Order: sequence, then structure tokens, then C-alpha cells
Amino acid sequence: MVQLSKRAQNLKTSPTLFLVAKAKELSAKGHDVISLTVGEPDWPTFEIPSMAGIEAIQKNITKYTPASGTVELRNAIAEKIKFEIGQSYTAKAVTVGSGAKFIIFAALQMICSPGDEVIIGTPYWVSYPTMVELADGVPHIIECGESEHFKITPEKLEKAINSKTRALLFCSPSNPTGLLYSASELKALAEVLRKHPQVTVISDDMYNRLVFDGTLVAPHILQVAPDLRDRTLVVNGGSKAYSMTGWRIGWAAGPENLITAMGDYQSQSTGSPSSISQHAALAALKNCEPDIASVVKKLIARKESGLSELSSIPQFKVASPEGAFYFWVDINACLGKTYQDRLIRTSKDFCDILLNHFYVATVPGSECGSEGFMRLSFAVSEETLKRATARMKEFISQLA
Ligand code: PMP
Ligand code: GLU
Repeated sequence: MVQLSKRAQNLKTSPTLFLVAKAKELSAKGHDVISLTVGEPDWPTFEIPSMAGIEAIQKNITKYTPASGTVELRNAIAEKIKFEIGQSYTAKAVTVGSGAKFIIFAALQMICSPGDEVIIGTPYWVSYPTMVELADGVPHIIECGESEHFKITPEKLEKAINSKTRALLFCSPSNPTGLLYSASELKALAEVLRKHPQVTVISDDMYNRLVFDGTLVAPHILQVAPDLRDRTLVVNGGSKAYSMTGWRIGWAAGPENLITAMGDYQSQSTGSPSSISQHAALAALKNCEPDIASVVKKLIARKESGLSELSSIPQFKVASPEGAFYFWVDINACLGKTYQDRLIRTSKDFCDILLNHFYVATVPGSECGSEGFMRLSFAVSEETLKRATARMKEFISQLA
């Protein structure tokens, strides 16, 4: 047996990826598992990037690229950001990595020294706190409840900032709630941030194009507070809007010293992201606006039908998501009940029974820092969601 580092001893596996593996394990045993776990589109990668990937292989675009990605792709990313939030970046201010997950990880590695704090609001994307800890930082968690629509308020932000605070990390639209920060809410946060120049803003924009109010893109902090540009990192990637989860392409634009450090870090760790995937992502960025529009339309229909399904369960309370593809379900009415003599104390208990007895895989809210909730992905067909809801109803009818 190897003696592991302290870092390894404290490491927690990604709960979303663990649950996906668990669901697959049950499927392999012959169970008909419905997975609403992973935040992954069920539709294929669009035709244009898929063909570009094949072309990359055929044309032998299969070698190392610069560690931070090709200049062509970085320019295309800069153009996209200009189109979406109106900020101009040079290729030098953009870095491409193997997924936005690694991009955020690398950013935190470059921002945090031991003991530095990173502010994260609940409910958060499952990986944020662990990523901060892996950078020897301390996640400073702000509890954001239903009355605050699960968003950080300026008052709470002000209270959380101290001399150790180095960054604020948030995503909008949110994984897991699907709610987004309005322009005025972002403006109010910016007013607080302006007073604290040591705080870097990490804006995780993974779902910024998957919004349901007819606008093209979610409101962004740099649209309302462009003066924060010198300390804001804009993060995005191909996984969600372009359905390219397996291609592993993410990127960031921001202050050049941070981008350079992240690129150097990458040059000593993963090296350049896949040349094939970069070629595909370039094609996606240049050509896939109509595909994104059709995906948003599909998601709106799924959201509507999913909401009406879930509202037929009186024990559930669900806020209508404004973007992304998650339902954030309040299951507090089910806690304290028993199922076949097993007391359901936590969201983990609830989701565990739902998976092992009714074969519906979901993410317990506790993994996102909020007890009493469950995350469901609706990046699945309406039919699948209907079947899942029927099973949840069956489960709940058996609670005592
Ligand atoms: N941020 C958020 C909020 C996410 O949900 C995800 C999902 N995977 C990521 C970042 C990272 O995405 P990827 O590594 O696939 O680019
Ligand atoms: N972001 C997705 C999720 O939250 C993908 C899985 C992961 O990387 O954690 O389910």
C-alpha cells in the first residue's frame, strides 16, 4: 500500500461522476435505470464540429498545439465573448484547456495561496469547494436560501469578504438551480466588489447561452460593471451549449497575468488540449448559432413539460428554471418520513432510496451544500422525465 499525500487523503470524488458510475453499475446488472444525474446534453454533438473532428484526424491535425490552445481558436473565443458580453480580448488574454473544470481548477491553483479564501454561495456546483481545497484555499461558503432565490445578496457578500478573500466564484445560470443573476443583481454585487480590489471574480458562464426568456445570452457582470474587467475571469466551454462534453474543451479570458500563469500551469500538467477537439470547437464557435437556438427551444419545451409533471407531486416544490437544464426540487416535505422502516433524514437518504429501489438517479442537494433539495437534469427526453416522475410518485406514495 502506498502512503498517500495529505492532499489525497482529503480528496473527495466528484459526487456527480460517482452517481453516474453508480447508475451505470445498476444498469449493467440489468435494472432499467433512469438517469437524471449528470449535467450532460442527451443530444449529439452538432454535425459541423463532429465533421471538423473527423477532418482534423484525416488532415493529421493530431499533434501538440501551444499549451494554451491554437491562436485561431483563441481568436474565435475572443470573438464569441465580444458577441456575447461586449468585451474585447486579444488571443493572449485567452487560454484553452481540457474542459472548463480544469480551467477553473487551474485558475484557483494560480489565485490561491495556503489559507486564502474563495467565496462560494450555496447551492453550488459540486466541484467548487473541493477545487478550492486542492489549491490549499479555504472555501468560504455563503448560505443562500429560498428567500434569496438561492443567490448571493450584496449584504451577504460584504459580510463574507475579509483580508483573506481572494476570489468570488459563481455560475449564472446556476448549476444546480437553473436560476440566474439579473443585471441589477449583478450590479449590486459589483458595487460591493468595487470596494475590495483584492477579490478576483471567477464568472463561470457554462450555461450562459441556455436561457429561456428569449434573450440570446444571460446577463453578465462585465456588462454591468466593465470596470471590474481587470480582475474578472470569464469561463466557458464547449460542453453544454455545443453538447461537446466528451471533447473536453473549456476556456477562459481575463487579466493577462492570470491567463499566462494558467497557461504555464497547463504547460506543466495536462499540456495542450486535444488538437482534434480544438479543431472541432473552432468549427462549433464559428457555425453553430442556429443549432444553439434549436437546443434552447427544445429545452424550453422540456422545462414546461417537466414542470407540469413535477407539480403533480404535492410534496415537491420547484422553482421554474431560467436557464441551464436542472430542476432544483425542494423535498423537505419528504424528510422525516419512513420508507419500509428506513427513516429518510437527508436528501442523500431520499436519493439513495430513489436510486436503489426505484432506479431513478438524481443528485442530493447536500452535495451542492443545501440540505432538503434534489437536483434533476432535464437534458433528457420528455418521455424519460415522465417515466421518472411516475416512479417518484410511486416512491412517495409508499412513504409513511
Ligand atoms: N461549471 C459548471 C457550472 C458545470 O456544470 C460544469 C459541468 N461539467 C463545468 C463547469 C465543467 O464543464 P466541462 O469540464 O465539461 O467543460
Ligand atoms: N457539470 C456536470 C454536472 O454537474 C457534469 C459532471 C461533472 O463534471 O461534475 O453534472
